[in-house]
Amino acid sequence: MGLQSNGMHTLSGTTQVLGIIGYPVRHSLSPLMQNAALNAAGLDYVYLPFSVTPESLGTAVSGMKALGVLGFNVTIPHKTAIISYLDELDESAESAGAVNTVQLRDGRLSGYNTDGDGLVSSLADDLDYVIDRSETIVIIGAGGAARGAVAALCRSGAGRIVIVNRSFNKALELAQEMSLRYPGTTILASLQDDVSDCHLGSASLLVNTTSIGMNGDKIGFINLARLPDSAKIYDMVYSPAETSLLLEAASIGIRGVNGLGMLAAQGELAFKIWTGETPAKGLMKRVLESI
Ligand code: NAP
Repeated sequence: MGLQSNGMHTLSGTTQVLGIIGYPVRHSLSPLMQNAALNAAGLDYVYLPFSVTPESLGTAVSGMKALGVLGFNVTIPHKTAIISYLDELDESAESAGAVNTVQLRDGRLSGYNTDGDGLVSSLADDLDYVIDRSETIVIIGAGGAARGAVAALCRSGAGRIVIVNRSFNKALELAQEMSLRYPGTTILASLQDDVSDCHLGSASLLVNTTSIGMNGDKIGFINLARLPDSAKIYDMVYSPAETSLLLEAASIGIRGVNGLGMLAAQGELAFKIWTGETPAKGLMKRVLESI
């Protein structure tokens, strides 16, 4: 392997393959940030996007095995469907009910979910938020992203989590399932239009896991003024960079960040699973910020 003047490495007979499967996959930012980190680490790997239709998922996974790829990321719409093709699931994937990272070793396919732990990592690095058993975290949304987030926050020692959702039953089901899995955390459910001031008033962190904000729309059902001044906000949405939630928070002096750091951190964790090496600190996030 050699480095070209543009910083990319020369592909050779020894180059090993990583990638991402999704449909569509052309929007994915993972090839950019993963290849930058692989090049910086001087690893003879390449990371490629693979557009795989739902009908072709099984064939694609067999192909990955036959070709001996080292591993791959999994994105929409395959995060749940991929599970039936895997040999084993890590706790992160089992609790989230979804896989975003697959490792192929000795012919066996192992599924992981690095999204939730990516959030926890980004909370520390980008928001200086330390998870404390005595504090309350409010999660908005009860979909796939919320599931991974709640599980990872529980594993990281969260004391109390309130799941707020438009469909109350989904929030309740998630709260009940996670309470059984992680009895050390108190998990409550609330309808989005009925969030008690008491929950907001005791929260040290509010995390938006819904897509609200991607089109400039506002989360109208949460009164941020009810949060303590010291509370922090994490918005998983990262486009636009300054979401309406973050703008509203800033207008009343509450600190918040968008989900770009989580996107980078889930990639860093996947990189470590595949290569056994820690990627250059902050590089993936800088690549994302430069786009
Ligand atoms: P999902 O499974 O479809 O869940 C969406 C959730 O948002 C549900 O709880 C849904 O409520 C709620 N919701 C959607 N539109 C709403 C609206 N107009 N009003 C109130 N609630 C609404 O989606 P997901 O996979 O969890 O992803 C959610 C978001 O997280 C996406 O924007 C995704 O890009 C982002 N995300 C970011 C990262 C990152 O690295 N930064 C990683 C993962 C996901 P109902 O249950 O009532 O339908």
